[in-house]
Amino acid sequence: RFEAVLITRDEEKKQRVSFVEMGEDELMPGDVTIAVEATTVNYKDGLAITGKAPVIRRFPMIPGVDLAGTVVRSNHPEWKEGDKVVLNGWGLGETHYGAYAGRARVSGDWLVPLPEGMSVHDAMAVGTAGYTAMLAIMALERHGITPDRGPVIVTGAAGGVGSVAIALLSRLGYHIVASTGRTAETEYLKYLGASEIISREELAGPARPLGKERWAGGIDAVGSHTLANVLSMTSYGGAVAACGLAQGMDLPATVAPFILRGVSLLGIDSVMAPKPPRLEAWQRIGTELDHARLAALTSTISFRDIPKAAEDIIAGKVRGRLVVKM
Ligand code: NAP
Repeated sequence: RFEAVLITRDEEKKQRVSFVEMGEDELMPGDVTIAVEATTVNYKDGLAITGKAPVIRRFPMIPGVDLAGTVVRSNHPEWKEGDKVVLNGWGLGETHYGAYAGRARVSGDWLVPLPEGMSVHDAMAVGTAGYTAMLAIMALERHGITPDRGPVIVTGAAGGVGSVAIALLSRLGYHIVASTGRTAETEYLKYLGASEIISREELAGPARPLGKERWAGGIDAVGSHTLANVLSMTSYGGAVAACGLAQGMDLPATVAPFILRGVSLLGIDSVMAPKPPRLEAWQRIGTELDHARLAALTSTISFRDIPKAAEDIIAGKVRGRLVVKM
């Protein structure tokens, strides 16, 4: 038997989060069973556990959208007992029992191999947030946003997506403008590789249709006015990868950057991303992410700390990434 976090909902649709004991026979169907050895708390896990957004679409639910561990049983041709695997998204912790349990039973189609040279702890330090940062970088590259094109902005810089994006972009040679509400974290952001720090406030209010051209591209984890401002200040032919909504889901922008400067808005989804870009993203993370910087942006918490961490991440109090040791 193993311990799990279980979210139930009563008739008044009030959520309850508890720690329970479960057996493997209570898990949902799947062709691979995994001993979960590490997980993490992403912004989305925070939304799920606090109930601030309808992330969970089936009750009861074991939350947790990311896991890393070892295959203990497999009827899937690609995986065998002892394989080290990583799983991000595919409805884990939303519609299918998730990562916050000693065991997970899932579809083998959802798994990727643990990248060479990375531990399960490293993989969860990256997690969905970091793998999404890599998907955003791949999208910018496909659009021709190379370091010689000019600076790139990263919003929500001290958060999970932001911190990993800065560490990766810096390794690739980009000049990075980091936007943060936590200017006290300047030293941290510079260590990760940011060249300039700007205050979140600069981008938080209503955007003008066009502003001064300040960057060739960007990775935005914030949405709303912030994304509108980022677009309005993107230089001719540039591109912005949108992946988050920490400020809001709205986008109060005009078409001016698109039709007058040929700016592109690139949408990034990690949950249903097909296997080839997933494998490419994880393979690149394995080779291009600096280990010392990954360690610097990671804090480790225990299984019992998950509910508190969920509240903290929604309150914007988590710096970088959290790894949950099982
Ligand atoms: P996180 O660690 O909480 O990072 C979010 C950061 O946004 C915060 O650290 C903060 O950075 C900034 N922020 C928070 N509230 C803000 C506000 N009201 N206005 C402006 N900035 C604010 O969360 P995460 O796990 O990195 O996720 C970031 C976002 O990406 C979330 O919206 C998440 O849902 C989304 N996401 C999407 C995908 C996808 O597949 N598209 C995948 C992963 C994550 P500073 O303190 O530095 O300002």
